[in-house]
Amino acid sequence: MAGTVLIVDDNPVNRTVLANILKGEYETLQAADGAEALELVRQRTSSLSAILLDLIMPGMDGYAFLEALGREFPRAGIPVIVVTGDTEADAEVRALDLGATDFLGKPYRPRVILARLKNILQLRENAARLHRVERDSLTGLYNQEGFYQQVETLLRREPGLEVDIVAVDIGNFKLVNALYGVNVGDEVLRQTARRLQKQFSRAILARRTADQFLMAFPGGGVGGEELWDQIRGWTNPLGLNLPVRLGICAARGTAVPVSVLCDNAKIAADSIWNRYDCHWAVYDDAIRTRLETEQQLADDLEAALQTGQLEAWYQPKCDPATGKVVGAEALVRWNHPTRGSLSPDAFVPLFERNRLILKLDRFMWERTCRDLAAWQQAGHPAVPVSVNVSRVDVYQRDLAGQRGAVLDRLGVRRDMLTLEITESAYCDDPAQLNDTIRRLRQAGFRVEMDDFGSGWSSLNALTELPVDGVKLDRKFLQDLETEQGERFARHLVEMIGDLGIPMTAEGVESARQASFLRELGCRSAQGLYYAPPMPRERFEAYLLEHL
Ligand code: C2E
Ligand code: CA
Ligand code: CA
Repeated sequence: MAGTVLIVDDNPVNRTVLANILKGEYETLQAADGAEALELVRQRTSSLSAILLDLIMPGMDGYAFLEALGREFPRAGIPVIVVTGDTEADAEVRALDLGATDFLGKPYRPRVILARLKNILQLRENAARLHRVERDSLTGLYNQEGFYQQVETLLRREPGLEVDIVAVDIGNFKLVNALYGVNVGDEVLRQTARRLQKQFSRAILARRTADQFLMAFPGGGVGGEELWDQIRGWTNPLGLNLPVRLGICAARGTAVPVSVLCDNAKIAADSIWNRYDCHWAVYDDAIRTRLETEQQLADDLEAALQTGQLEAWYQPKCDPATGKVVGAEALVRWNHPTRGSLSPDAFVPLFERNRLILKLDRFMWERTCRDLAAWQQAGHPAVPVSVNVSRVDVYQRDLAGQRGAVLDRLGVRRDMLTLEITESAYCDDPAQLNDTIRRLRQAGFRVEMDDFGSGWSSLNALTELPVDGVKLDRKFLQDLETEQGERFARHLVEMIGDLGIPMTAEGVESARQASFLRELGCRSAQGLYYAPPMPRERFEAYLLEHL
């Protein structure tokens, strides 16, 4: 059966004739007037395929029924074919105005009725399929493809029209799913979609990926601050303060594909993720230039590795009680032929995004191992050195094997190297991180959690991940100035001590911070107060003086 058709006619003979015509192809239901029909629609809204409607009936007539149907079920989309012997000239127009889909005159011609029904149902099915293709099933907003199409049509139809495209990014969303489950995550997304719909009713809205929404404002003139004003302070079912960033890209005409415009809006949003004071950004020349520079740096890396532009510098870790060196951290430096000396902040985040960091980290590991081997062979004093391992490395299946092979080849003892993994890697994929750390430790390496306390995953991470040490993020020492900050730092350091986890304090810059650490019995500290990062030769001299 192709569906259920409701026949509405006050004349029982007409109803029977129609039912017989449809028999074999459709299920039928019958109603003798508008009111009865409406009741059947209420009961069977979603299973009705079409309605055949007589116009002239006692009680609620066909016109009144059409009106009531439109009012009560504005979006049900059930096609209504009006079938009547009414010869009034404007009957057809009036019925179509009230939402009827098609019109058939009497006497009944069975093949015509069946053919019209089939066409209408086919059209409806096509529309529904299109709806499914261009809509996001979770939120009912457009999906990415649907959004591209809508905006492209708009830009093509009105070449002079400015359209502002806005990317809305929700941060930490993976963590919501991980901690509260996918159902809660879905509800947060649905609620966000409803709010955007309500707040920005003039925009075309879409959900692009899991936690990224898109808006297009025909006519442009969107101000970042005004948008942010309308979104700030939104709460969600969890009462969590999920960070949101907005990226805006203006469009006109069809020269640039909509997908690229959306990418640009996203790039603008991404450019402010590490800024706490800034919630929106416009894609402009500054961002364009930065992207070009980044592309250039990515192109330059291979040559830099070949020609020795990259170096490992060492920053001592000292015992606050004695000032003696107890270890060091290897930090990359890039002497670029045209850009001068580059700090890691200029290229590490970029290489994490395009995965070139895997190459760079492998180089740094090899470089550090070579230095350690050379000290070992020359009988030069040495201390254990920690090397940074990017969050991207965590996904390397055989990280432990790879790293171990380099040590074995160069004859360096495993306890001379520590791997520093940033705490924020925990947000990406806790299970994977756990697995990688377990394997590294099984292979005999020490693993430290870097930047401890910089994100809100800290305490979870610390109780769930088996690490050999933590590096306290420098922000805790910066907060010592206030009484509350000092109390918090003290508790944190004591708690880490109670758990029996060795700790290094990072970013020690003043005598006051150093004495605070001394007082708490901290055995390892790193920062400008003791020594800055330095090239190998200078570090060797420093070691001789401070061991
Ligand atoms: P990090 O791992 O937290 O490294 C410590 C950073 O703090 C270093 O910055 C260091 O120079 C800086 N620092 C040292 N003492 C002080 C101080 O007293 N005050 C302040 N404010 N900062 C201090 P650097 O060398 O610029 O490195 C920045 C970040 O780049 C590192 O942060 C690390 O995340 C990343 N990085 C550096 N080298 C590598 C590497 O070889 N591989 C990977 N994956 N990342 C690296
Ligand atoms: Ca580090
Ligand atoms: Ca750190």
